[in-house]
Amino acid sequence: MSALPPIELQAPDLYRWAAGNTGTPYVWSFDAGRPGPQVMVQALTHGNEICGAIALDRLLADQGQWQVQRGRLVLAFGNLEAFARWDPAAPDRSRYADEDFNRVWADEALSGSVDSLERRRARLLRPFVDAADLLLDLHSMREPCEPLMVCGTTGRGGDKGVALSRQLGVPGVLLVDTGHPSGLRMIERGAFADPGHPRTAVLIECGQHWESAAAEVAHDTLLRFLAHAQVLGGDYVTRRLQALGRTPPARQRVVRVTEAVVAHSPAFRFVRPFRGLEVVPKAGTLIATDGETQFHTPCDDTVMVMPSVTPPKVGATMVRLGRYEDA
Ligand SMILES: [Zn+2]
Repeated sequence: MSALPPIELQAPDLYRWAAGNTGTPYVWSFDAGRPGPQVMVQALTHGNEICGAIALDRLLADQGQWQVQRGRLVLAFGNLEAFARWDPAAPDRSRYADEDFNRVWADEALSGSVDSLERRRARLLRPFVDAADLLLDLHSMREPCEPLMVCGTTGRGGDKGVALSRQLGVPGVLLVDTGHPSGLRMIERGAFADPGHPRTAVLIECGQHWESAAAEVAHDTLLRFLAHAQVLGGDYVTRRLQALGRTPPARQRVVRVTEAVVAHSPAFRFVRPFRGLEVVPKAGTLIATDGETQFHTPCDDTVMVMPSVTPPKVGATMVRLGRYEDA
């Protein structure tokens, strides 16, 4: 595993939000009493991705300064069991408690007999997710990498996510991928994955988990998402965006993932360290081995999407391979 990046962010004390106002701990709902979209934002799908928690904590702390003008706004902290294990001295250990919270969102996983702390939480959050017209899931990445939006999967809602991200104007890289064989993500659940249905969900990777910029990206993206949804009245969002002072990228490029490289054994190894969004110029370049199996780049200018630095587990996605659409 690569060296531990510095921990610049401090995890917020979220206990003040524990009660929620929905009957579900750490879930807050604000209803305009007027028709409009149900808009949901989640942080802490992964317990060590604290930038999103910082952004939601700020929004909740500011609730005297904004009001929902139409529809409903739901703010949820996801995996508190994992977050409770957060320890800056061992920051990789609090990603999840029993299993990855972002692989349990298929009906079979939620309704099945398998029990885990994450499935229990997902079963509680399911009604909120299934009622959301627009959903933003706030994440970050283990390795330094520019922010990117996971827009969904090809043919299953990914293009809706791209269209939404273009309306937000952020971030600069829009990823359409192939999902994970190990389970369904929240943004792929139900009608989110139906290209013909208006419900849309996106997942922002705000940068490296613990860099201070990640919290700014999370906050900025959250505000732009709320502005797009036109869910808050008044000038709160405009004021906060101005105070942050971040300039949207000059252009947004779509990376389309063509295949996922999945570990078949613990022997999986990259032939050299790769960083996120690295472009490998030549088709057929050896990138990894797994026992006798070799993995090569499928095309010229293959984009390495979020190479994993955690020890390989059977069935885990180690890297996604893609291309810039305008390449
Ligand atoms: Zn994550």
